[in-house]
Amino acid sequence: MTSPMFEKIALVGIGLIGSSLARVIRREGLAGRVAISTRSAATLKRTEELGLGDSYTTDAKEAVRDADLIIVSVPVGSSGAVAGEIAPALKKGAILTDVGSTKASVIAQMQPHVPDGVHFIPGHPLAGTEKSGPDAGFADLFDNRWCIFTPLPGTDPDALERLSEFWRRCGANIDTMDPQHHDMTLAIVSHLPHIIAYNIVGTADDLESVTKTEVIKYSASGFRDFTRLAASDPTMWRDVCLHNKDAILEMLARFSEDLAFLQRAIRWGDGDKLFDLFTRTRAVRRSIIEAGQDIDVPDFGRQAVEHPSKN
Ligand code: NAP
Repeated sequence: MTSPMFEKIALVGIGLIGSSLARVIRREGLAGRVAISTRSAATLKRTEELGLGDSYTTDAKEAVRDADLIIVSVPVGSSGAVAGEIAPALKKGAILTDVGSTKASVIAQMQPHVPDGVHFIPGHPLAGTEKSGPDAGFADLFDNRWCIFTPLPGTDPDALERLSEFWRRCGANIDTMDPQHHDMTLAIVSHLPHIIAYNIVGTADDLESVTKTEVIKYSASGFRDFTRLAASDPTMWRDVCLHNKDAILEMLARFSEDLAFLQRAIRWGDGDKLFDLFTRTRAVRRSIIEAGQDIDVPDFGRQAVEHPSKN
């Protein structure tokens, strides 16, 4: 076990991401102690039963007091309110970070509350599942996944390096980019796929000519792979859509144009166009496997990703 990187880490929000952090922090011995806060008494009770930290409270201010590293893991639409709540209790010299799936909006919401002398470094680990809550987390979640920082101008390089080292010890690889670039990139690699999945599953659910039983029974033909994304947390994804609006609308416009192209090729029996596109997209899948971002087994690697020991 390595020596603790931080004397006290405060985890504000203890769902899938917060609880995965709690587990990997414990496994790697990254903190002297871990203080956990969450909004509801029910989640707090469950977190305590799971033994994820050293102290538990529904008062975020109390959790962050004296903490050297504070990680906010709440839906992006709540990050401003949370920042406002904890700001008066933040210690000078502490690092404040978040894990939100959108960055420009989180920065706009949180930055105005950050007191002088606190290092605010926005972050986003590109790791997750469709599950939520403290039972859903697991220590390996961040293994070989990317954690993107969108540092603000004037960020202290030492604080950034400390936070990077923390995430490396959690298993992640580090990248940095500006918030707008992050939001545009994530709109295509994450937000649009989720929206398409929500849409297709909604369409299938609305169908009356095909029964619901048939949709479920024959789902392994392709539909099933969309249902995993479409089972993702409604609050989180509502907030992502509302807080990355411009980039998502841009990607949706491109998507609709390309879909019309595909529709036209099908209508006019243009097999060459279809074959060329499907060949190109197959190569993208190969590149993802080569980059170690999935494994080449049936089921899109889900069984392997679904870690057996979730505690
Ligand atoms: P989650 O499992 O649903 O947990 C959410 C946590 O935030 C819980 O502790 C919850 O408290 C708290 N919370 C919810 N609403 C709140 C509010 N209005 N004010 C204060 N606290 C509130 O969520 P998650 O999947 O860990 O996601 C957390 C963050 O990580 C989000 O910003 C998301 O965009 C980002 N993220 C998610 C994924 C993913 O795949 N899930 C991946 C990367 C990043 P109670 O349970 O006590 O109400």
